[in-house]
Amino acid sequence: MITSVETVIAGTLELDGGAMFGVVPKSVWEKAYPPEAGSNRCTWATRCLLIRTDDGRNILVDTGVGEKDDDRFRQHFSPSLPQTLTSHLRSRLLEPEAITDVLFTHLHFDHVGGASYLDASGTTQLTFPNASHWVTDQHWNWAATPNPREAASFLPTNLDPLKGSGKLRFLSAERDDYEWLPGISLRTVYGHTEAMQLPLIDLPDGRRLVYCADLLPSAAHLSLPWVMAFDIRPLDTLAEKERLIAEALDGGWTLLLEHDARFAGGQLIKDERGRAAWGKMLERELVIY
Ligand SMILES: [Zn+2]
Repeated sequence: MITSVETVIAGTLELDGGAMFGVVPKSVWEKAYPPEAGSNRCTWATRCLLIRTDDGRNILVDTGVGEKDDDRFRQHFSPSLPQTLTSHLRSRLLEPEAITDVLFTHLHFDHVGGASYLDASGTTQLTFPNASHWVTDQHWNWAATPNPREAASFLPTNLDPLKGSGKLRFLSAERDDYEWLPGISLRTVYGHTEAMQLPLIDLPDGRRLVYCADLLPSAAHLSLPWVMAFDIRPLDTLAEKERLIAEALDGGWTLLLEHDARFAGGQLIKDERGRAAWGKMLERELVIY
């Protein structure tokens, strides 16, 4: 049974607002998600999730950017340093060795980078050495032989340490949502990248949380056409988002936002025109259960 769920911010990075909002003009998106003055760059969080269970599992969902990257990468994305994933876990009395499972929604660098680090001798080590690291086999194969459009997001420096570790475990990309562990179901979506997984978390108190990953990365992405330019199948994203929003409205689900620098998520309400809108937002980082 799930005993606690909390957000863990691994850090921030900067990404071009135009790339994050696709076809939406800057004059529109800059009001919803303000860029730095005089530029198109916006600050985004990498908000991971920690789920603990009464049978001793400490499950981490995604791991942020990590610290292995070179100067060129850092100039490009300005990740916050030091990253705060392990220090935040320690502040909650969890050493990296205590993480039993790492679930990757997908393997873009801002989701998988924090799963490994360079030790003093320059050798790559797993950050969570005892954890099983889970991803769909379909997505792993996609990431391991990347298309030119996504090649800059699937970095060998992130995938190679997992490949040789003996700690990589494959999930199957099912057509329907399926239960992975008691209280945690997985939904496979295909618009952002091939076979990304969203955890649907059913709390003992009856609430359902959905970790939206890059299907709905920030509060500003609620409007259907606001789809990242990175997405490989934008119309699939639109349909997957439409379904999620309808279900979340119906079921009173809480949506958790991986990249929103201001809010951890929230619940949806209908506005006066019957469209989905955010109700009360959750603070940036919090214990949800
Ligand atoms: Zn992504």
